[in-house]
Amino acid sequence: MQAKRKSPLTETASNGVKKNDTVKALTIDLKKDGWDKSKGFFLRDIPMPTLDEKKDPTDATAVILKVRYAGFCGSDRGIWYRNAFCDMIHDSLAKEKKPMRVLGHEFVGEIVEAGSMVKTLYYDPDKNNRAKIEVGSLVSGDSHVTCGRCYQCRIGESHVCLNESILGISIDGIFAEFVKIPAKNLWAVDESRVRPEIATVYDPFGNAVHATTKVDFCGQRLAIFGCGPIGLFSILLARNFGAAKVIAVDYNDANLNMAKELGAHETIKIRKETKKVEWAHDEGVVEKIMEITYGKGVDISMEMAGPSSSLNNAIQSTRRGGNVIVFGIKDGNITIPNFSRMIVVRGLTLHGIIGREIFKTWQIAQRVLSDKANGIQDAIWNVMMKRGKGTILDFKKFNPESFEKAMEANPKIIFRVNG
Ligand SMILES: [Zn+2]
Ligand SMILES: [Zn+2]
Repeated sequence: MQAKRKSPLTETASNGVKKNDTVKALTIDLKKDGWDKSKGFFLRDIPMPTLDEKKDPTDATAVILKVRYAGFCGSDRGIWYRNAFCDMIHDSLAKEKKPMRVLGHEFVGEIVEAGSMVKTLYYDPDKNNRAKIEVGSLVSGDSHVTCGRCYQCRIGESHVCLNESILGISIDGIFAEFVKIPAKNLWAVDESRVRPEIATVYDPFGNAVHATTKVDFCGQRLAIFGCGPIGLFSILLARNFGAAKVIAVDYNDANLNMAKELGAHETIKIRKETKKVEWAHDEGVVEKIMEITYGKGVDISMEMAGPSSSLNNAIQSTRRGGNVIVFGIKDGNITIPNFSRMIVVRGLTLHGIIGREIFKTWQIAQRVLSDKANGIQDAIWNVMMKRGKGTILDFKKFNPESFEKAMEANPKIIFRVNG
């Protein structure tokens, strides 16, 4: 049956690609580029991905995706400057016995070919569902490829899967014209509800949804430490979920201005002062937060940056009995002074947030983005993405120098890959 099915990739008419063609991809090759002696990503020709169920039976549950847009993430920035995911990329490539990783994990694209089991397993026959997993559909998807077999996956907590792989880090990613991806990761996008450029950021927006739904935000005062894209998304979401006061903290003026524009009630700039120890909290910041909250401290702190000092700012600014949402990741040890007194005695709860709850978080993200009245989709497009001006770059014309400039000047950059 598989052999008889006509592949859309055998003809040039349907998508402009012949089966044996190569496609462009953004990569790092540990042998050719080296990790330490290079910076950035490299545009290369790689073989067109294909589904060959005889060679690999798991292709029956995979699809070939024609990528339309791809988002550049904070974690990609870490790889760009070689200060994150060094071990994960090296170890996973060693396991696969190859030197080159295709990067990227935020995407929206069209399904152009599907394995023989995709319809049986992932097609929703509900007539009312206009967004389906089938050839021709526009889809986004989760960057964490989970195993489905471990204890966590079996009890519906696949976001903490024991054996997960991450697109563009521990397996090949989506910075390519065409990619092969497991169908179970896909989330169908209804373009009439969420514009494709915004659907591209479903994955990081989902991080923010996950972080802002962990505890009840309604009527709460909160402080967000770190106003990168996910911190900024969290401001929009916290306001939408009814937070009474949102305080944005960052050291970057542009980020704070954007935080204000997106609805933060107060902004606090961290000074890059020379402290005795690098992990110590910033007394000025904590004092200001105490002032704003009438000496109580915030009900919820969100640590969205990673360094010890930022986590200590979050802990010190949270009221007794409050919640600390911990999202930022940094390699190495974290120092929390007076742990017993600050956390245990004060009755704080720390919540580690990783990835998205698949697909509960996606459903909430879709509903929030589809509701035009809350203004969130418009705010992301108009403020964070500047209506595409300088933030949507042509993938095939990738130039490392101009790309780096754009990446430094904007919280969110996306590539126009096809179409
Ligand atoms: Zn990302
Ligand atoms: Zn698992």
